[in-house]
Amino acid sequence: MNGNTDRSIVNPNVNCLQGKRCPECGSFGPLEITVSMRLLLYDNGTDNAEDGATEYGEDTPVTCCACQHEGTFGEFDD
Ligand SMILES: [Zn+2]
Repeated sequence: MNGNTDRSIVNPNVNCLQGKRCPECGSFGPLEITVSMRLLLYDNGTDNAEDGATEYGEDTPVTCCACQHEGTFGEFDD
């Protein structure tokens, strides 16, 4: 963690975190997010549902792994 919030540094994120950056410490990730996911629940455990993709959006709760800043995914826009 270097807490660098220098805006002249180009955001290196190009995929899931494209345009994302911690508004508190300037970290480019990783971010811990809480997702919704469909699962099949059995008596003895769970299995992936056929459409078991993880779902998250701009209002998904996010915690910065570098500084523990909490916000929504939308608030982490660079
Ligand atoms: Zn942070």
